[in-house]
Amino acid sequence: MSPTGSAPQTPSAPVDAPGPSIRRVPEDKARAGAAGRSRRGQEETHTGRVRRARRIDRILAETYPYAVAELDFDSPFQLLVATVLSAQTTDVKVNAVTPQLFAAYPTPQDLAQAPHEAVEEIVRSLGFYRAKTRSIIALADRLVDEHDGEVPDTLEGLTALPGVGRKTAFVVLGNAFGRPGLTVDTHFGRLARRFGFTEQEDPVKVEHDVAELFPPKDWTMLSHRLIYHGRRICHARRPACGVCPVADLCPSYGTGVTDPQAAARLLKYEFAPGREQLHRRFLEGATRRQLRAEGYGLGA
Ligand code: SF4
Repeated sequence: MSPTGSAPQTPSAPVDAPGPSIRRVPEDKARAGAAGRSRRGQEETHTGRVRRARRIDRILAETYPYAVAELDFDSPFQLLVATVLSAQTTDVKVNAVTPQLFAAYPTPQDLAQAPHEAVEEIVRSLGFYRAKTRSIIALADRLVDEHDGEVPDTLEGLTALPGVGRKTAFVVLGNAFGRPGLTVDTHFGRLARRFGFTEQEDPVKVEHDVAELFPPKDWTMLSHRLIYHGRRICHARRPACGVCPVADLCPSYGTGVTDPQAAARLLKYEFAPGREQLHRRFLEGATRRQLRAEGYGLGA
């Protein structure tokens, strides 16, 4: 098969092989698990929730052993700028423009002095390109003025920068500095609620509830796994419950499509039917950049 992003998919893939192999939960077990959990709902003890949460995380770790930040970067500065650019758009689109942006303006000093029109031209495809251009130039300016061109490595330092909120700060802390952080984006929040880790909508409250279930050392990878799971299987509108590897641990099983054949057709990216080769390459350790160079479209 030609490894292209638009590789023809095979919606009629066999039920027992919904793309690459992932943990399969028999329907009756998933139903029984969900029914029991929603019945017990409020009564689940903290210890029980911690155990269940960590079991879910272990299974997601087996499902997505290659989970990483999906934005490409080579330095904290690049990740910071890429994360700011990723607002209201996809990581794929950001990854398509950042090589040109960082080739033209490799340092905060370069970007701080860049002509707005030239930067706008590069980031135009991301939407809100004028506002994003203003943001990243102001950000670079502040880094030069107050931090000698270095990206601060603390939550306080990062959130004091223009246009940088907690989510962006935790992305940078967790992925560029190796400091634990929970990145509560739309996928993370939705899944945390579906799993019953929280009932909160406010990202900071979600963050605090989830932080009580996992040790800090797991926070960054948990964030990646929940985001991967949200993008590939537990979608906002039609989660693919029928092929979900954590169906028996999820009180929201049944929110989406439970028929395995129909659910398999909802899988995205490397799990989508017809993309087994891409999944294999991920498992072999190929990086996202390598895979893109090989011609794969990686979604997200
Ligand atoms: S896909 Fe369904 S079973 Fe899986 S986590 Fe989402 S809601 Fe729960």
